[in-house]
Amino acid sequence: MRVVKAEFAGACYGVQRALDMAVKASESGQGASTLGPLIHNPQVVAELAERGIRAVEGPENVERGSVIIRSHGVTPAVRRAVEARGLPLIDATCPHVARAQKAAAELARRCGRVVVVGEAGHPEVEGLVAHAREAGGHVVVVAEPDDLPASLEAPVGIVVQTTQTREALDAVVAALAERGIEADVKNTICFATRQRQESAAALADEVDAIVVIGGRNSSNTTRLADICALSCARTHHVEAPDELDPAWFAGCESVGVTAGASTPEDQIAAIVERLEAL
Ligand code: SF4
Repeated sequence: MRVVKAEFAGACYGVQRALDMAVKASESGQGASTLGPLIHNPQVVAELAERGIRAVEGPENVERGSVIIRSHGVTPAVRRAVEARGLPLIDATCPHVARAQKAAAELARRCGRVVVVGEAGHPEVEGLVAHAREAGGHVVVVAEPDDLPASLEAPVGIVVQTTQTREALDAVVAALAERGIEADVKNTICFATRQRQESAAALADEVDAIVVIGGRNSSNTTRLADICALSCARTHHVEAPDELDPAWFAGCESVGVTAGASTPEDQIAAIVERLEAL
């Protein structure tokens, strides 16, 4: 059975950077805490815990050691709370997310009203909203044009959660244009998600079965599995090699492998090795 890996798969730049920073922090021997799980990957979170890196809910739960900010970033209030406690701060905010936070604040100052295109309640979106509000902006979060308040008036700035699609952004911009509002748009989409989705879809088209690796609590991995299932009925989402069932691949000449942006390379390599041994 031929095993083919997707062109783009696994940990993106921001996640890999955060993982590297956490591992480095663990080597200090002082211990460290992440504000929420570092990534949506239970195996990685367990490995980090063994190295003395534990996930806590907020700065008030940290007793000693450093505090690591995740790639999603945090609100300015959370950052101030860490600083007020005098705890060493390791900022693993992805540079793409930091750029979006800066854009949200700039738009708030320039336009007064800011639309955040994204998923309400997501930690990254909460950070964008808070950065815009701290800069004096009136902020709404929309996932689609129907979420736009009827009362919205120009001038309006738009900033985007990094993992959103270009289509979602364009739909909101077009809906505002129909109302005569020409928004000031900061396209802060990161292409890591799109690259993984497009290469997974292309691979799912050409193989007999496909394995999608990543946490079941990872929304980007689940989305990859949904995309693969559209063209490959034998799509299997797994977290670890021992979940692979040889019966899934009966009669297969080729199997594809892809992984979410929160799946490190060693987990992909372990699955590939197990598949090649089947
Ligand atoms: S998906 Fe993009 S923005 Fe998000 S952590 Fe990865 S590289 Fe950064």
